[in-house]
Amino acid sequence: MHYKIDLLTIVNDKVYVQLETPKQDKEVIDFLFPRIVPGIYGTMHFAENVNNLKAYDASGRALEVERPEPHRFRIRNADELAQIRYHVDDGWDEFDEKYREGFYRSAESSFHFDSFAVINHNSLIGYFEGQSNLPVQLDVYRPGDWYGATTLHRGKSTYNMDVFRADSYRELVDNPILYTRPDTVWLHIGETDVCVAAFSNTGQKLARGIANNIEPLLRNQAAYLGGKLPVDAYCFMMYHALGSPNSYSGDGLEHATSTLCLLQCPLDSGAVGDFVYGLASHEFFHIVTPLNIHSENIQEYDFVQPTMSRHLWLYEGMTEYATIHMPVWQGMDDGFRSFLQKIADKLQQMSKFDDALPLEKLSLEAMERQDQYYNVYLKGTFVCLLLDLELRQRSHGKYGTRDLMRDLSARYGPDKPFVDADLYQVIADMTYPEIREFFSRYVEGSERLPLEEALLKAGIVVDSQKFNVSLVRNPTPEQAQLRKWWINQ
Ligand SMILES: [Zn+2]
Repeated sequence: MHYKIDLLTIVNDKVYVQLETPKQDKEVIDFLFPRIVPGIYGTMHFAENVNNLKAYDASGRALEVERPEPHRFRIRNADELAQIRYHVDDGWDEFDEKYREGFYRSAESSFHFDSFAVINHNSLIGYFEGQSNLPVQLDVYRPGDWYGATTLHRGKSTYNMDVFRADSYRELVDNPILYTRPDTVWLHIGETDVCVAAFSNTGQKLARGIANNIEPLLRNQAAYLGGKLPVDAYCFMMYHALGSPNSYSGDGLEHATSTLCLLQCPLDSGAVGDFVYGLASHEFFHIVTPLNIHSENIQEYDFVQPTMSRHLWLYEGMTEYATIHMPVWQGMDDGFRSFLQKIADKLQQMSKFDDALPLEKLSLEAMERQDQYYNVYLKGTFVCLLLDLELRQRSHGKYGTRDLMRDLSARYGPDKPFVDADLYQVIADMTYPEIREFFSRYVEGSERLPLEEALLKAGIVVDSQKFNVSLVRNPTPEQAQLRKWWINQ
């Protein structure tokens, strides 16, 4: 699949896209745009912004195109098909008011003539039904002084054109691009090159400030993961739009090797830095899961009607658990106090959600249960905390979730998914047989999490009524020992 995107002639925020198609052997073929992408749990209808889609044969003769569904373009005489052309409007403009429930701004594209383009490929580029595994070449025509920050594989560039490659449509979608006049800083973390790229509609350069702010965090995260990170390159892409005083709104979408951060706020380098720090402390850990540890449902993602994986407790819960566990484990300033505070905050937030809804069911029904979705960051985190304590206790401090994630990464990988239904047993086989029952009770089932009991074993008192978390005054040697094993305190 050979696509061309033209950023040189953006007119009314519309870009021109052209696709040279591989030879098709069927009479009729459907060209699709996603309705959903990994990381979001609502239907988005990216095809809404696609205009004037036309198909041609090799001699430039137009072929018949129908649109039986909004996201589906049906092309007849497809065995003669050589080229598809269309225009795409952008999904948002400087944080305009298009926002509605289930709309993820960070999954949409936005572009402006002569200043920037945030490219989420899923909103610009379609695929043939059943052919999303074909390799992709993408040529982007852009102003000579623009740089495209991305973790896509680069081919040869010319003064106004970049060539990128991806092994599949899924890989393409997982690697957005931020195009603008360069404002980039590179950090070398472990053996990984981390790019921080920014655009602000104020014209101000932001990348250096952001990079300085997150560098110590990234170094601690890398150390927590064992020093060497499982990726060669990572990219933080930051889009900033000036907002009115006291108006802050931001969102972000994680990818396997990059994070797209969108922020509207006054031009305040402290606020910009804090926002990216907050996102990075969670999103960067996604290089472990789902990148390296994910199920077949993610590997073979269906962009129209995905089958959800039952393991959000792992993808989001474990990622968020690492986010709160890392600072205390690494002995960062204030790590212990803020760890206890984060537990208290999450307990309070969790009390607003339906505790009878099993995490596995919430995961499988993530699209229907949007009202409960946020609980994967709360209850999902606590399940991982309990699992860590359980493993530490059984192994006399030798094994915890950090080790488990390392071992699962070694067993699986970016191209080697696990079978969705088998993971609980796999983890029990790798650790202790009793862990299978742990999953039955607290992930598949809806048994109340025994947080008070479990944390008391580590000398921490939880008052679930007042959402208060404090230390036991005189811990027993057993309590002190487990706490040391678990959080180095
Ligand atoms: Zn996440």
